[in-house]
Order: sequence, then C-alpha cells, then structure tokens
Amino acid sequence: MTETYDLHCHSTVSDGALLPTALVQRAHECGVTSLALTDHDTVAGLDEARAAATATGITLIPGIELSTSWQNKCFHIVGLGIDPDYPPLRDATHNLQIMRTERAERIADKLEKKRIPGALEAVKKAAGDGMITRSHFADFLLSQFHVSTQQEAFDRYLGAGKSAFVATTWTDMELAINWITQSGGVAVLAHPLRYKLTASWMKRLLAAFKEVGGQGIEVVTGRYSSDEIKTVAKYATLFDLAGSVGSDFHSPANQWLELGRLAPLPENITPVWELWE
Ligand code: AMP
Ligand code: MN
Ligand code: MN
Ligand code: MN
Repeated sequence: MTETYDLHCHSTVSDGALLPTALVQRAHECGVTSLALTDHDTVAGLDEARAAATATGITLIPGIELSTSWQNKCFHIVGLGIDPDYPPLRDATHNLQIMRTERAERIADKLEKKRIPGALEAVKKAAGDGMITRSHFADFLLSQFHVSTQQEAFDRYLGAGKSAFVATTWTDMELAINWITQSGGVAVLAHPLRYKLTASWMKRLLAAFKEVGGQGIEVVTGRYSSDEIKTVAKYATLFDLAGSVGSDFHSPANQWLELGRLAPLPENITPVWELWE
C-alpha cells in the first residue's frame, strides 16, 4: 500500500478548529495513512488523537510545533515522533502555557487601549484548556467586526510591529531542538519560506539549525508552488536535510487547504519518515 503522509496540522488544543478525534477522522477520509498532530507548544491533544487513530486504522505520529527564537526572530520547529511523556518536554509545555496566557493579557491590554475591550475573556473562552494564540485574537476581532478577514487582523493589530503586537522571546532554538531530539523525535524546520529570509540568512539559519541537531525541513507544505518546492529542495540538498510534507491544516473553513492534499516530495530528497521507519 502506498502511504499518504501529512506531518503538520492543528487541533482545538491550539488554534485548530477540530477536536483531535474529528481531525484524525477527517484525515482518514482524505486518504491520509500517517498523520502527525503538531499543535503549537503543546502535546495535550495526542492521547485523544492516538485513540482515534487506533480506532480509525491510521498511524499517528506524535508531534508538536514549537515556537522558537534564534537571532531575535521567531521560527517554528516541528518535532516528529516525540515522546510526549518526556519530563522536560512536559514541564516546558506547562511553562509555555503560562507564558502564552501572560502574553494574551498584554495583547488584550493593548487592544483595550485601542478601545477594543473584552478580548481576554473571549480568547480564554475560545481556547478553553488549550494554548491561546494570536489566531484566537484574530477570530475575536472578526466576530466583533473590527476587521473583515483574519489577515486584516494581523495586518492591523496582531502582526509584528502593529498596535497590539507583543514582542515575545520564545524558546531558544537549540533548547527546543534538544527537547525534541532527547525525547526521541526528529526536528524539522516548519514552512521555511514564511520567514521571508534572504538566501544568506536562510543559509545561516540552516547551518545553525543543523549544528544543534535539526534533521529535517518542510519541503512540501499546503501552499507551496512547484517553484517554491524546488527552492526548498535545493536548501535540503545543500544542508543534507531530510524533507517533510505537511499541510499546516487548521480549519475546514479554509477551503483552499485540506489534510493530505500535498505535492509529492522531489525524488532526490530523503523523506523524513525514513529517519524513523
Ligand atoms: P502565535 O503562535 O500565537 O503567535 O500565533 C501564530 C498563529 O497565528 C499561526 O500559527 C497562524 O495560525 C496564525 N497566523 C500568523 N500570521 C497570520 C496571518 N498573517 N494570517 C492569518 N493567520 C496567521
Ligand atoms: Mn497556527
Ligand atoms: Mn507555524
Ligand atoms: Mn502550524
């Protein structure tokens, strides 16, 4: 049987719209045979996802998407095949939840100064026991008609340098990669073209990433064109990194992006799953 991989997606324990069970079922319906759940800074959805995967007959790869800092910039590192019970990782996610809640309070304060009250209550309610993200704020701003799209919420309020932006020092990239690799996982640089780096910065980043144990890079994401896939594949080859494929699915409301609907990895790229299979 040919496998269909999707190694990057989100559930309600971070900023996804579907409960882990519904997400796994949707992945199965979309033909995915190996799914990694990679919620932002949390492993809280993995037990439920594992049970749903067993019931559905698909393979669940336990994952996480860690927000990390390197050279004062934020980069997302996906951990694949991690042990969610590895104590340092458990402790880290606990601390990250506190940090995200404090950040949410500061974002809400800034919105209040812009005469937009009520954000903190709304995002806390929406996130429940899960991680509060800027997506929750974007949803709130949309629901209150302060903006007409999620993108506008980031462009006007939440994006870097905008009026409700709170600069955050995330987990140091090396530390995040250590948590992933020491818990048995593979560290993958997520959506490498989203950071808008020049080629020389990209090479600096990848050299540093590799130096501290990074092993993979997302060559195929839900949004990349064939030219973009070629660009990332060149970096993968240059730095001898395995290639990952992941939709970064968040919600069925986004009709342009579906679980498992991904271009194949270029043939000269080592698939990241060969590192654990
Ligand atoms: P956070 O980790 O709390 O900073 O939230 C980041 C999340 O916000 C990302 O994972 C995306 O889901 C979402 N996001 C970031 N930038 C944008 C954007 N420009 N438009 C829509 N969603 C975005
Ligand atoms: Mn997200
Ligand atoms: Mn990301
Ligand atoms: Mn993501």
